[in-house]
Amino acid sequence: ATPMSVTAGVGRAAEFGVLVRDADALQKASTLTTLVFDKTGTLTEGQPKVTDIHTFGGTREQQALRYAAALEKGSHHPLAQAIVDKAEGLAVPDVLNFRTLGGLGLRGDAEDSALLLGNQALMQENGIDTSDANTLLESMAGEGATPVLLAVDGKLAALFALRDPLREDSISALQRLHQLGYQLVMLTGDNPRTAQAIAAQAGIDKVIAGVRPEGKADAIKALQAGGQQVAMIGDGINDAPALAQADVGIAMGGGSDVAIETAAITLMRPSLNGVADALAMSQATLRNMK
Ligand code: ADP
Ligand code: MG
Repeated sequence: ATPMSVTAGVGRAAEFGVLVRDADALQKASTLTTLVFDKTGTLTEGQPKVTDIHTFGGTREQQALRYAAALEKGSHHPLAQAIVDKAEGLAVPDVLNFRTLGGLGLRGDAEDSALLLGNQALMQENGIDTSDANTLLESMAGEGATPVLLAVDGKLAALFALRDPLREDSISALQRLHQLGYQLVMLTGDNPRTAQAIAAQAGIDKVIAGVRPEGKADAIKALQAGGQQVAMIGDGINDAPALAQADVGIAMGGGSDVAIETAAITLMRPSLNGVADALAMSQATLRNMK
């Protein structure tokens, strides 16, 4: 049987904007040791902007943008809208043979050119030489920007920097969560350097980066196998398997429907203070039962 105080806790959580599926979820929340956060859209605002464009091999900046936008208009990734917005007003060509390469980027053909757009791993897999971009790429990533590379007909053509700032209350919410005694982890498909830079700003303890979408649930399993009781906090469709694998899945308000359906706890507002409120309350509820 569920103790009354826990049932009451579910109701109290709703008063401060946290929807808890059932008493079991609240009870599990009271025994967590580790909180794993998705980066884009969870720790950050999730609306990246293009802030720099560098071109290579005589490519014109407008041409690079037209091609990048041609691919991104077929994508729902958070990076896609930023590139499409930046190309506003340019004639963006249609794409043939479009493909999404999960955790890597996009490919397709436009105006008789073969286009590839995405991260370093994508370029490596396709044998594209990115050495001309490496120094720039490392410094961008060191500042927390996400580098996106464009190759045209097998040659490096451009490097875009996309920046996605932390949500304004992420730092203070993570401080509260530290004080409550949790280990804080970032889990992301983004570049390890970019992830480290954002984690340092946010006050995250540990970074698991460069993870393919299908690897996110495995990363949670590995923490559990190490004896941790794990909550996953995410907003995206690609976070759903990790939300399901975690001892407690927490979906950000305003996130995808799939994330919300999978999670045991949903934050009505897109703020990590909801996580701190919910976990402080679950700890207090448990203490009252002892
Ligand atoms: P996350 O949601 O954790 O950032 P993803 O698995 O969605 O991770 O993406 C991992 C990386 O793959 C991105 O940081 C980016 O470098 C690259 N990528 C994925 N999709 C795209 C896209 N549509 N355009 C450009 N790069 C992409
Ligand atoms: Mg996300």
